[in-house]
Amino acid sequence: MSTKKSLQTSLIHSDYIAPEGFAAFPTAIHHASTVLFENVAAMRARNWQDKSGYTYGLHGTPTSFTLEARLAAIEGGTGCVLAPSGLAAIALVDFAVLKSGDDVLLPDNVYNPNRELGTWLQHDFGITVRYYDPTIGAGIAALMQPDTRLIWTEAPGSVTMEVPDIPAICTVAHAYGALVAIDNTWSAGIAFDAFAHGVDFVMHALTKYQSGGSDVLMGAVITRDDALRQKLDQAHMRLGFGVGMDDAFLVMRGLPTMKLRFDAHDAGARNVAAWLKARPEIARVLHPAFEDCPGHAIWKRDFTGAGGLFSVIFDERYTEAQTDRFVDRLELFKIGFSWGGANSLCVPYRVHGMRADWQGSGQLVRFNIGLEEPADLIADIEKALQKLG
Ligand SMILES: *Cc1c(COP(=O)(O)O)cnc(C)c1O
Repeated sequence: MSTKKSLQTSLIHSDYIAPEGFAAFPTAIHHASTVLFENVAAMRARNWQDKSGYTYGLHGTPTSFTLEARLAAIEGGTGCVLAPSGLAAIALVDFAVLKSGDDVLLPDNVYNPNRELGTWLQHDFGITVRYYDPTIGAGIAALMQPDTRLIWTEAPGSVTMEVPDIPAICTVAHAYGALVAIDNTWSAGIAFDAFAHGVDFVMHALTKYQSGGSDVLMGAVITRDDALRQKLDQAHMRLGFGVGMDDAFLVMRGLPTMKLRFDAHDAGARNVAAWLKARPEIARVLHPAFEDCPGHAIWKRDFTGAGGLFSVIFDERYTEAQTDRFVDRLELFKIGFSWGGANSLCVPYRVHGMRADWQGSGQLVRFNIGLEEPADLIADIEKALQKLG
């Protein structure tokens, strides 16, 4: 007997089930807040932390599970948690492992919003936050306290570009029972094998090379320790750091080409940096593959590539107004934050305001080399330099 439903109900309910066996390369985009259970017993039996099934959109769908698994595999970890931005991924690590009374060490060249978060933790959450010279290496032992719980590292710092000695910092941290987190965004997990060098947490702004499109914000934290992974999961649930599945799809779409893009950014950046190094207007090139860069020897020892980001210090005869005009005159290089997309970017930084111990008075300008032809980028820079005065 036909049980034709009313129009309103049939707009919502359908018995159609698409045939099985569809195969294609893209991971399907599974959107969900509500996830359905077959019956009450199945619902009651389900644990949101068990990644063999689904409970609620916040905890993931096949789309986000797939991205997590792929990112963990790329980094050589066992677990990955996604967050709505790179900064959210930093916060996830902090809230997963810190409690009031703990002490945290941040490098003095740290990504500035991480410092801002540190200031908040210090003022309102009873956590001590101290800063260390990013070139400190094993000397970090002198800063360790019984309550030091977490050391953040960034390899290299994304404005002043010092390359830290990660193995030395990890050895000291672990001897004192502290954990080490790395912001590994610069290397994309391609040019630096963070777990092999001893860290406990690898954090990425997927916003950069993984996405490659300058069109999505997302972050990830990867571990190879189940207990730490569970702490991350707890913090992720308590903070409600869900990600959109369209965004997860966009990040996944970038992965197959990530190494090819990274290598092209790397070659272009070394090309442009070498040209700048020979210019009389430029005092120093802060690119880890160049000897001017603090930690260059460590980069040679521990890294296999460099990507597209570097900074230069102009000769001190140029004022901020002059170097600002240089940046304004660039045509192919656009002014904007971030990196890892196809477009070249350029940003002047006021380093004295960011770092109390910064030496020297030349202006710092950061370049992100995109995927344009390097000769065209050099011609663009040359034209702007000619009008520098
Ligand atoms: C961009 C970036 C972040 C933050 O990523 P968002 O997705 O923009 O929040 C963190 N660390 C570094 C080094 C970055 O470059």
